[in-house]
Amino acid sequence: DIYDQARATGRQPLSFEIFPPKGDLTLETAHEVAAELAMLLPDFVSVTYSAGGSGNKRATADVAAMIHDDFDVPTVAHLTCAGATEDSLAAALDDLKHKGVTNVLALRGDRVPGTEPDAGPFRFAKDLIMRLADEGFCVGAAAYPEGHIECTNFKASVAHLKQKQDAGARFFVTQLFFENEYYYRFREAADKAGITVPIACGIMPFLGKAQIERMVFMCGASLPSPIIKLLAKYEDDPAALRAAGIEYACAQLVELQAHGVDGLHVYTMNQPDIARACASALRASWKQGAAAAGSDEAVS
Ligand code: FAD
Repeated sequence: DIYDQARATGRQPLSFEIFPPKGDLTLETAHEVAAELAMLLPDFVSVTYSAGGSGNKRATADVAAMIHDDFDVPTVAHLTCAGATEDSLAAALDDLKHKGVTNVLALRGDRVPGTEPDAGPFRFAKDLIMRLADEGFCVGAAAYPEGHIECTNFKASVAHLKQKQDAGARFFVTQLFFENEYYYRFREAADKAGITVPIACGIMPFLGKAQIERMVFMCGASLPSPIIKLLAKYEDDPAALRAAGIEYACAQLVELQAHGVDGLHVYTMNQPDIARACASALRASWKQGAAAAGSDEAVS
């Protein structure tokens, strides 16, 4: 699968997330973003899925296929199942197959206010995972180092993750987190629960106060005090705050890399400068590590 391929290179897989055209964003713009990301040689690019609103539900598969075909970069198409019927899912899977998309990140999707996500044949992500695995897709799924926002019991959250692996998930990507300790603790709990597949770390830089507030309320990630201090320090300087957010994410990634985590996944928010900064910080630190190991060997 995509993780085995990436790990054969001897370093942790690095991947990027983008979102497909919606609103003002066109397929051409998505192509330009993808071209810049492809230059950074990621192990894969994942493309989010938007089930609600007037968005084009086929856009995810279109962009995933475009990145694969035009740039020869492996892709993962996200797919949600809340509210899906047997027929709508069959049509979505046909579309993915028709476009040559073989890797899918299987998600339940966020609750849409006023609708009942538990209705229908695909109540949890594991139901979708099972179906996708049966159809021959390489399936990934979401993991939550601080527990999922609707699940107050951390142990239950890990047990639900194990169910996803048992249903056929071959890799996980985490929700964003701002303190690496949460990931380390979670990976340990996952190991104890028998989760053996890679769990890549999803890292999102904070770019502004409104964005961070939205993210924290949506997914329940904890905000550590160094970030709160940065938000206060740069309250009147959005450009400096954005730069500080990217720098913080780079430092987080470099530490995770040194820790030997399973994979690194950057939420780029379609802003290639974020991906560039992260990739170059990781490359510099990796080279430094390799050079230090080389000089140790020379000494011994
Ligand atoms: P599930 O695994 O089904 O979990 C949902 C809730 O049900 C959790 O609280 C879980 O603990 C609980 N649960 C699971 N199994 C059981 C069980 N057997 N019994 C009782 N409770 C159970 N959303 C989008 O709309 N589009 C995207 O492209 C997208 N991409 C994402 C990418 C990543 C890496 C992540 C981390 C999230 C993404 N999301 C996306 C958000 C995701 O859809 C939400 O977090 C959603 O609320 C849960 O999705 P899930 O697949 O984890 O659901």
